[in-house]
Amino acid sequence: MVFCWKCGTEVREDASFCQKCGTPIKPTATLEGKTGFEFLTSEKTAQDHWARRGIAYVIDSVLVGVAVFILVLATVLPPVVLGGGLPFGWGLWFGGIFPLMVLLIPAYFILAEALYAKTLGKHIMGLRVVRRDGKRMDLETSFLRNISKIHPILLILDLAAGLGMRGEVTQKFSDRYAGTVVEVSSQSRIIS
Ligand SMILES: [Zn+2]
Repeated sequence: MVFCWKCGTEVREDASFCQKCGTPIKPTATLEGKTGFEFLTSEKTAQDHWARRGIAYVIDSVLVGVAVFILVLATVLPPVVLGGGLPFGWGLWFGGIFPLMVLLIPAYFILAEALYAKTLGKHIMGLRVVRRDGKRMDLETSFLRNISKIHPILLILDLAAGLGMRGEVTQKFSDRYAGTVVEVSSQSRIIS
């Protein structure tokens, strides 16, 4: 059995295109008809893949958090140390920059993957994003696959929807929608 990587429909073994959504099938979709969740409970490679993705996400989020923290310190600390007290408007700055993190984290992912096909966290974990059609990552594709990071609940729904579909174990729903897949380039396993 072969399932479309994009919409999860079962297609004929020899099909070149999905009869439901028209997506080119060959040469990628050759998995059995299990959902991502079923793979995740039984396959070490799937566990390894998602463990890497999870760690990479934590690294990236911490990185953005630390960068913002340093930025705030850099603007506030010098006048305080030099005895001038807190700079004018610091309350507005503090009050505004941390809520902005909600936008800064997805913005970082979108830009990094549009430019380099990976974030620093993905680089460290041996991951990179590739397009199914073989073209270079661009801003639109990166936006589509990362916009769910704007809210944790959206990201969880995106993950659950992707893993609940058949045909591909490594795609969030937004990866299917954007036509992307995250590849592991590292030979070593963190879960074995
Ligand atoms: Zn399809």
